[in-house]
Amino acid sequence: MTYQLSPEHRASALGAMTTSELDVLVVGGGIVGVGAALDAATRGLSVGLLEQRDLASGTSSRSSKLVHGGLRYLEMFDFALVKEALEERGLLLTRLAPHLVRPVPFLYPLEHAWERPYVGAGIALYDGMAMTGKYDMGVPRHKHIFRKQLARMAPDIRTDNFHGAIRYYDCQVDDARLVMTIARTAANNGAHVATRTKVTGFLRDGDGDGARVVGVRARDLEGQRDLEIRAKVVINAAGVWTDEVQDLIGGQDQLDVDASKGIHLVVPKDRIRSECGFITKTEKSVLFVIPWDQFWIIGTTDTAWDFDLAHPAASRTDIDYLLGHVNRLLKDPLDHRDVIGVWAGLRPLLKPMRKEGEMGETTKLSREHTVANPVPGLVLVAGGKLTTYRVMAKDAVDHAIREWVARPASITERVPLLGAYAHEARTNQRVALSRASGLEVGVIDHLLGRYGGLIDEVLDLIRERPELGEGLSGAEHYLAAEVVYAVTHEGARHLDDVLTRRTRVSIETFDRGVQAARPAAELMAHALGWDTVRTDDEVDHYLRRVEAEKQSQLMPTDQEADEARVKAPDIV
Ligand SMILES: Cc1cc2nc3c(=O)[nH]c(=O)nc-3n(C[C@H](O)[C@H](O)[C@H](O)COP(=O)(O)OP(=O)(O)OC[C@H]3O[C@@H](n4cnc5c(N)ncnc54)[C@H](O)[C@@H]3O)c2cc1C
Repeated sequence: MTYQLSPEHRASALGAMTTSELDVLVVGGGIVGVGAALDAATRGLSVGLLEQRDLASGTSSRSSKLVHGGLRYLEMFDFALVKEALEERGLLLTRLAPHLVRPVPFLYPLEHAWERPYVGAGIALYDGMAMTGKYDMGVPRHKHIFRKQLARMAPDIRTDNFHGAIRYYDCQVDDARLVMTIARTAANNGAHVATRTKVTGFLRDGDGDGARVVGVRARDLEGQRDLEIRAKVVINAAGVWTDEVQDLIGGQDQLDVDASKGIHLVVPKDRIRSECGFITKTEKSVLFVIPWDQFWIIGTTDTAWDFDLAHPAASRTDIDYLLGHVNRLLKDPLDHRDVIGVWAGLRPLLKPMRKEGEMGETTKLSREHTVANPVPGLVLVAGGKLTTYRVMAKDAVDHAIREWVARPASITERVPLLGAYAHEARTNQRVALSRASGLEVGVIDHLLGRYGGLIDEVLDLIRERPELGEGLSGAEHYLAAEVVYAVTHEGARHLDDVLTRRTRVSIETFDRGVQAARPAAELMAHALGWDTVRTDDEVDHYLRRVEAEKQSQLMPTDQEADEARVKAPDIV
């Protein structure tokens, strides 16, 4: 039996964190924070993690969901960065999370004949770096595709514009599931994880600016109470909120983190016939068209964002920009009516600042992420990307304990995430599992891709309550059991958590989850003991959120989109 991120876990985690001093307290339940909690817990340290909202509710559920080396960094000659990310890609795919990470084929269309040797050499280098890395490459090698073949592979692409393409592989993952699974793995290794708990200040062992941080003050947003949590060291992994957290220590800013907005669109799979995804260059960045189950994800943009950090909003201008770019590739252009889902995320863009004469130390560990130590007892980690979370986490914990007498080493490269174990065996047994459970083989495959070896726990639930083996009304590609399991095992506490992050109903249905909201809330009510007032409130809040997002997506500017979106605040 694996550890359950249940309501009882939250209560006991907060109890444990407030009664004895921890070795390490992590602030932020995005990919970097949960990675740091797992890294520290598996070194044998006592660990707590506080997240102000839901796990992955910040940037880490809003990425392009690629586990990749980053082809475009090759053009910037950032070889070390690409190699590191490719190694992490191989490690995640073949050892740490084979149940969650999967290979995706991409076509890089060639507009000019001269591009073939240039792009071909770049992609050969990309594959070569993955093949000579520390871990298995795990994906097929690239292949040159010529015009006729391209027309067969991607009949909806305007092949007359292209001299063929190069097909190569990267990987993808449901980012929010990866975060939740790492948090659960950390809890399974003893970490105390509490969501809806906001850090509001730092505990210091003196009055001066340089006084050591010895813990945090926090607000339990559900229990409406203030807490004090003591720790030998605090690791801040607050992404785009890093500046806010730095303000709590009184002007000891060592990292300057700006937010850059990127949006994505979801369209139905049958709108673009193609065996592979696409990547092309845009003026500022790259355009991805990524296969995602029965859909395509199209992204992304890259614009400064100065508004609400918790609810970045996509404007009509953003959506038009993406449609305009993707339509250059397509024979039959997409329009707003094809868009099922939209999301916006904020990249934590790092501008390192080392102020002369100030105490502390900033270590630029790679082009992409930085670890800083503004005052004793506090470590800041920011930047980077989803793919390299494990390296960031390791660097942050190494830094946090660098002056300790005993400094256990990171072992996360040898710690498969929950569900990785038995994934292969259960996959081999898929037909037998289908017969035993009465679920179709396709449904078993869906469950294996989300739970891996933990499928047994979901099937146990269905055995006890066979009605949970039915599709969720309004979003039948998920089972009712998945809603219940999200609450009992995966830390979901609100309807939004279930429809937006534990499942992706909010971006995978044309009505954005409106029909599924009531049935899902009733399943949650049963599991969490909600009364009808609370259940209605959850549904009402979700519907208001969907409406606010839809309104924001009609607005021409960021400011107007933000004003429309913030009309539906979070429920706690
Ligand atoms: C559009 C876009 C596309 C991307 N695509 C990719 C991709 O395909 N592949 C890839 O590898 N990377 C990608 N990235 C980058 C990647 O998503 C981010 O680097 C990563 O998710 C950042 O994680 P984080 O943990 O630093 O931040 P977050 O996920 O934002 O986590 C920070 C957490 O801290 C919490 N927090 C803040 N303040 C407090 C407080 N006071 N108390 C308690 N908790 C607090 C927040 O609520 C939040 O949950 C993309 C990013 C964007 C925006």
